[in-house]
Amino acid sequence: MPEAPASVSATASKPKSAPRKAMERLGLVRDIDLALHLPLRYEDETQLTRIAAAREGDTVQCEGEVIASRIELRGRRQLLVTIEDESGELLLRFLNFYPSQQKQMAQGQRLRVRGELRGGFFGREMVHPVVKAVDDDTPLAQALTPVYPAGAGLPQSYLRKAIEASLKRAPLEELLPPRTVPPQLPALREALHFLHHPPPRVPLSTLEDHTHPAWQRLKFEELLAQQLSQLKAQRERAHLKAPALRARREGLPEQLLRHLPFQLTGAQQRVVEEVAQDLALPQPMHRLLQGDVGSGKTVVAALAAAVCMDAGWQCALMAPTEILAEQHFRKLIAWLEPLGIQVAWLTGSVKGKARQKMLDAVASGEANLVVGTHAVIEDKVSFAKLGLAVVDEQHRFGVAQRLALRKKLASQALEPHLLMMSATPIPRTLAMTYFADLDVSTIDELPPGRSPIVTKVFGDAKRDEVIAKIRDAVEQGRQVYWVCPLIEESEALDLKNATDTHAELSAALAGQPVGLLHGRMPPGEKAAVMAQFSEGATKVLVATTVIEVGVDVPNASLMVVEHAERFGLSQLHQLRGRVGRGAVASVCVLLYTGPLSDTGKSRLKAMAETTDGFEIARRDLDIRGPGEFMGTRQSGAELLRFADLQEDAPLLKAARALAPRLLDEHPEAARRQVERWLGGKAEFLKA
Ligand code: ADP
Ligand code: MG
Repeated sequence: MPEAPASVSATASKPKSAPRKAMERLGLVRDIDLALHLPLRYEDETQLTRIAAAREGDTVQCEGEVIASRIELRGRRQLLVTIEDESGELLLRFLNFYPSQQKQMAQGQRLRVRGELRGGFFGREMVHPVVKAVDDDTPLAQALTPVYPAGAGLPQSYLRKAIEASLKRAPLEELLPPRTVPPQLPALREALHFLHHPPPRVPLSTLEDHTHPAWQRLKFEELLAQQLSQLKAQRERAHLKAPALRARREGLPEQLLRHLPFQLTGAQQRVVEEVAQDLALPQPMHRLLQGDVGSGKTVVAALAAAVCMDAGWQCALMAPTEILAEQHFRKLIAWLEPLGIQVAWLTGSVKGKARQKMLDAVASGEANLVVGTHAVIEDKVSFAKLGLAVVDEQHRFGVAQRLALRKKLASQALEPHLLMMSATPIPRTLAMTYFADLDVSTIDELPPGRSPIVTKVFGDAKRDEVIAKIRDAVEQGRQVYWVCPLIEESEALDLKNATDTHAELSAALAGQPVGLLHGRMPPGEKAAVMAQFSEGATKVLVATTVIEVGVDVPNASLMVVEHAERFGLSQLHQLRGRVGRGAVASVCVLLYTGPLSDTGKSRLKAMAETTDGFEIARRDLDIRGPGEFMGTRQSGAELLRFADLQEDAPLLKAARALAPRLLDEHPEAARRQVERWLGGKAEFLKA
């Protein structure tokens, strides 16, 4: 949002300081939000350690008088300050410093310093300790000092003061009726005060691993709010009406099945049946169809669409990118047009008269099936009779888009059914907790005739060798993807990278045409490049992550991912799913540039060890934690901040048991509980 000019904002409201804006970005707006913003860890400033008694590796607080202060060149310019207490001496070393700091630490000054004690080359030292100038009688802290999660531009001292003030004002009265909270847990107000200011000598370990009863209380509260909001959404949905959709005998679905070039797998038959049963009910379906990449979700969507259209209703299918939407479009046209279905195409790039024509066809009901990107849910598109909306790769749809979709769907007298598809499977515990409001169908079987993918991880020193392998593969008539990473916040660099690689491969494969596909190309050009590759006219396709989802070229059997360390685990899995679609054995080469972070290492290891999407999802969960797993980064809405679904299973169980009782017997308390914890975010949980 552009900022208001200073003169206007000064009269309208007080201009916001930078730290206040940083707090808002973290969702810290109301007093209660701040009160519930809990420390990551604590610093113990309640005690002093004698210099001689401090052990190397410990983070300690010492106090002493400056006996020497000098600037020296030891490789680089640095400030060296020696302090002394009655037990010994300690060297403080600063590689970056201001003249004012040097002055503050002048000889004779008494300093209280806090930092990690190290055994340096020149004796025991602290590098960049926290320093405070003190007198003989400056008191020690009375409670442990909290360290809060904060972002750039938000100093701890500012945040501490803000939280302190909010904690006094926030409404923290007990909302839960007596005897509903697990008995060993303290009251909320008590728990919060304790966690923000633990008294000295509380064992830090129980605070830091969140096993302390005060933490348990907070986690219980959070889980309860989350369960309540889910339950409410579920109950609200039960009151909604949808058209009951049933296909006629010998209708479209049966015709489509006869027309397909393959037989459905057992798993596909099962989920098609589950979806058909939902569609036949007069309540809106709210179902997630999950299945690994290549498991054949598209045909399930086509069959659901066929049921819907056979019953005389319209259907919309949305994909997150134009390329993917276009693939669906081509496939659905091939399957459905021979059966007399009119398929309309709608994306942001369809403009002018063509667009108006589409919109008219959709509004009149003449178009039975609309395929496109999220342009399909834009305000201007209105359906005559929408019976079913299918969202493909739903994890790639932003939360805001999903909310827009639900709003749109709710604008008819009868709500349409909703089928979401995802190749990023959600582990069962997560599905249960986050999606109490969602039914889940799983395709747990790949179509026959697929050969397993071998994954190899190489440092980028092997790049030339890999290029030689590509030449061999191309000579054998195989097709190759070369994926270039997204360089964060620099589309231009990203593009240069892909263009350079394209030139390099073209030179190495003299005579063989190499395709180039990136996000900046106009959609028509993208489609042309993709079509050439699908037809086999180009053997090698250099692409940025635009090919990540859904692209289907069975002859492609080698993939190279450059800078694999920059991709997320599920993204790598999605990419890899582009090969291994035909009968030839496929290879995926992950090239990385070191040094690797720990999480980078775990991701590449997981990729090398398994191709099972569910196992990948489990590992991803381990590496990232559930909050981030659910794609909260894109929405900015944290779902669970404190509780861990696995570790806190007993609390989760208690919260699940209490939620329906509270909603039935104390609806006002239930409402306030959700409001307290989720505030404006409750909507996000339904998306
Ligand atoms: P995804 O689940 O990743 O969206 P797709 O729907 O794109 O997978 O299917 C992958 C490929 O498998 C497509 O070429 C599709 O036509 C094909 N396919 C789907 N089901 C079957 C089946 N039962 N037998 C053989 N091929 C199938
Ligand atoms: Mg797909």
